[in-house]
Amino acid sequence: MNIKILKQTEDKIIYLIADTETSLVNALRRLIMEEVPVMAIDEVTFSKNNSALYDEMIAHRLGLLPLSTDLQGYNLKEECKCKGKGCSSCQVKMMLQAKGPCTVFAKDIKSKDSKIKPIYPEMPITILLKGQNLELEAIATLGKGKNHSKFSPGLAYYSQFPSLKANKDSKIKEAAQQSNNLAISGNKLEIKDISSWTEADEQICERNNIQIEYSNSDFIFTLESWGQLDIKKISSLALKIMEDKLKDLDKQIK
Ligand SMILES: [Zn+2]
Repeated sequence: MNIKILKQTEDKIIYLIADTETSLVNALRRLIMEEVPVMAIDEVTFSKNNSALYDEMIAHRLGLLPLSTDLQGYNLKEECKCKGKGCSSCQVKMMLQAKGPCTVFAKDIKSKDSKIKPIYPEMPITILLKGQNLELEAIATLGKGKNHSKFSPGLAYYSQFPSLKANKDSKIKEAAQQSNNLAISGNKLEIKDISSWTEADEQICERNNIQIEYSNSDFIFTLESWGQLDIKKISSLALKIMEDKLKDLDKQIK
């Protein structure tokens, strides 16, 4: 397996994964989305809420706020020394107090641990009118995406690497004019930037009788982070989890 970074921004990375199989690339995708743990609000106790939103709706919105995650400082509840009861090694308390008229934002949440807090401060939670109050206590824990999607560190997906095949009926000049991502080199049509290849480019090729062949061994793998963990950390953690799972399987077979 060969991995090459095609493009990287703060919250998105695109890899070319070559000489491998669909099952391995899909395993990596599932490990990222389901096994790499992140922090999220998991319990909310309301003492006041006469806003337009029910307690359940506010709790749901709080659960989906991405929280900065410190994997060194916290354990998964089920692996903690407290055996799942909840302690300072596996959970963080947060408070929220707001009085209308105002918009309640993620930044209004006060966390007991400054390392664990909402990443996007301007995310709105609810709007309070005059005379409306919101008071609650929340508990954030580490969790995995396989139990609830709020614990996913991001979105991972892949596609098979395309190559273009032109024949005598292909209109390569027209295709190159219609797509910014297609160019003519000699008498061949080429993809300029594989990391920007889209369904629109595919349709342009189809319309102009250009055949696309998809590789069964090379893949374009995209990972977008929701912000809880560093983009490269997510990939390396997923690979580490895969290694541990394979070691465990090996042990059990022996
Ligand atoms: Zn604990």
